[in-house]
Amino acid sequence: MTLECWMGRTAACAGLLLTPAGGLLAQTGPAPASAVRSAPLTNVRYEIAYDSATARNRSLTVSMAFDVGGPGPVLLSLPAWTPGAYELTFFARWVSKFAATAGEQPLEWDKVDYDTYRIHPAGARSIRVSFDFLADTLDNAMAWGKPDFVLFNGTNVLPYPEGRGLDFPATVTVKTQPEWLVATGMAPATQPGAYRERSYHDLVDKPFFIGKMDYDSTQVDGVWTRLASYPAGALTGPARAQLWERIGKMIPAEAAVFQETPWTSYNVMLIFDPSYGGGSALEHTNSHVGIYNPQFAGTPILASITAHEIFHAWNVKRLRPADLVPYRYDRPQPTAWLWVSEGITDYYADLAMVRGGIIDADQFRNLIANKIGTVTDAWPTALEDASLSTWIHPTDGTQYLYYPKGSLAGLMLDILIRDASDNLRSLDDVMRGLYRSTFKQGRGFTGAEWWRAVSSAAGGKSFADFNAKYVDGRAPYPWDHILPLAGMRLTADTIRAPRLGVASAQDSTGAVRITQIAPGSVAEEAGVRVGDLLLALGDVAINDPDFGSAFRARFGKNEGDPLPIKVRRGADTLTLHGTVRLLSRVEGRVEEDPDAAEKAVRIRNGLLTGTTGR
Ligand SMILES: [Zn+2]
Repeated sequence: MTLECWMGRTAACAGLLLTPAGGLLAQTGPAPASAVRSAPLTNVRYEIAYDSATARNRSLTVSMAFDVGGPGPVLLSLPAWTPGAYELTFFARWVSKFAATAGEQPLEWDKVDYDTYRIHPAGARSIRVSFDFLADTLDNAMAWGKPDFVLFNGTNVLPYPEGRGLDFPATVTVKTQPEWLVATGMAPATQPGAYRERSYHDLVDKPFFIGKMDYDSTQVDGVWTRLASYPAGALTGPARAQLWERIGKMIPAEAAVFQETPWTSYNVMLIFDPSYGGGSALEHTNSHVGIYNPQFAGTPILASITAHEIFHAWNVKRLRPADLVPYRYDRPQPTAWLWVSEGITDYYADLAMVRGGIIDADQFRNLIANKIGTVTDAWPTALEDASLSTWIHPTDGTQYLYYPKGSLAGLMLDILIRDASDNLRSLDDVMRGLYRSTFKQGRGFTGAEWWRAVSSAAGGKSFADFNAKYVDGRAPYPWDHILPLAGMRLTADTIRAPRLGVASAQDSTGAVRITQIAPGSVAEEAGVRVGDLLLALGDVAINDPDFGSAFRARFGKNEGDPLPIKVRRGADTLTLHGTVRLLSRVEGRVEEDPDAAEKAVRIRNGLLTGTTGR
């Protein structure tokens, strides 16, 4: 997943000192009782209906039919979370009108825990359960309905039998308006509107868009790629052509790492909605769902998040830490390895952008510098600890630190492997080697296997000390030693930049809420309050993907200039009157070293082009 990528890169640079917050729906609680076991089920068929009539209530009509193959009650559960969105949500919260029948006969049912339903078949062999699901949440792990559209995930609406394993086949039939379109990565079955997968893991990994949308396809690298966007008209013309062109450049650059494209088709599924303050996306095996403020259309950040999500189709959906294999849906599944699954995915998104020619080398180094700045500004936090902690959404600003810091750990490993092997091996060899030796063998990778692969690519060099200091430990990253090995160096510029003096948090819709106000700051003097939603500074909207540089350009010149601060407080929209105050801050810059040695230049070029060799 990615969340508030743009906030880290832009608003934080403007001195807003953002502290991301997680989904508003996140809760913790006891894990459901799972020592229970359902009667065996076969012939599982789900049906999901959404049309202009059910859309009035923003409600999906769901049914599940099956045959019962043994004695005892049927126990059906709904998931507590969606893989990739590492937080507990408990989808049973959105269920209403639950019923179970055998033919016309209603069956007795109750709950074993808050998301497990116990149905008494009373001798019946064929049972149907039905319920409504409220599609009211704009979140890529959730369901969201509009009068002409719905997004839903299988985790939201597809119950599974308790204690019977998840490798059961099932069909999903979609009922909707004849003129509406359906976009999904799910495999079509023979009947119209029907889909079939071999296991529950696949069923809940293929989200659906149903409704009016722009939907087209092309072949990228010889494989069908589809682009669905809602609402119709939100991504058309040059912006759509540009995204297509960039997808056509990023996928080959990513596939080169693994030397295969492991899907028969890939769905890029995008929602643009003005109520969404930022940008966020969630990965799947052959698709991803991205939700963006409309201002993201046509920006490089949209391409960057897209590159991140597509790389996930290899890294985490296939190559995955053993802690996450197989996924379980009833409780948290923490792992210390999200710095690889998310951070290194983010590193490869940057690499795909530069290797595919979407950004140039200067822009690539700026991405590195921004991440170094983000990590330097945060409280020192170990990568393993940040990975484990995401489930509880820490409030100290380090909740998503494993993205930028994990990305930088990937850069360091890449440089160290290339340096130790005289540029004959790279991090690509580690990713590809583990992909083949673990995912292709039907399992996840262990920590020992990861470090063995890194060490082997580096000609046997030990990374025990690296792990102790920079992954398990909190030591600052040694850029003065690492970057010169790749013909780069970190320099520091002292810049005068406007500063508001607030901490803020982004909620699951991307809205930016003020959480702290520094005493004596511009914000305090203007009357900003904790709890205000920040909308704009002057004429620069907070959800402008280019917020940071636009804000600095507009308000970075004259101390004392008026600084209108537009906030929403309750139902009111207010413009508060601040004044520009410029503060000196040190900003790191990563530049090419013109005097780099020949080997370092080769390593630098290898990174930028995805090549190895002397
Ligand atoms: Zn991600």
